[in-house]
Amino acid sequence: MAQTKLLREFSRGKHRHSVCIDEALAAAEQTCKEGGHRLTPVRRRVLELVWAGHGPVKAYDVLDILRNERSSAAPPTVYRALAFLLAQGLVHKIESLNAYVGCGKPGHPDSGQFLICSDCGEVAELDDPELVRLVEEKALQVGFSIHDQIVEIVGRCQQCTSSH
Ligand SMILES: [Zn+2]
Ligand SMILES: [Zn+2]
Ligand SMILES: [Zn+2]
Repeated sequence: MAQTKLLREFSRGKHRHSVCIDEALAAAEQTCKEGGHRLTPVRRRVLELVWAGHGPVKAYDVLDILRNERSSAAPPTVYRALAFLLAQGLVHKIESLNAYVGCGKPGHPDSGQFLICSDCGEVAELDDPELVRLVEEKALQVGFSIHDQIVEIVGRCQQCTSSH
């Protein structure tokens, strides 16, 4: 079996999160450059706010902070920026939480398995093509063809498991 990779990791306790943010912003700059898009200051700032931690972030939380920084920030400002970041694969939406997470390795195909820790609220992202293929095959067996498969899995991360 192929090794399952993590596209986005749990925080695993104390670490310098500014490094995570810097890496995410650098990867975003690169992705935008390659795609011929501009990571405008507002898009960049919204991405940074989504990366505030390792948990999902709601659009109105982003808006609250942005409003304090820019008097011109309105809901469409945030939603447009989020739509851009989603389209570029720089963030993903966790539907069950109606919230966003940053992607640690932007530019991968549109399928993902998200691990959601119900204790600390953090979200990791798996990259498992085998799992994707298996779900596709099973769906085809019942005559269902998949466009999009986003799997949201709820449980407890290693950090939270070991602290119990
Ligand atoms: Zn971090
Ligand atoms: Zn991703
Ligand atoms: Zn946890």
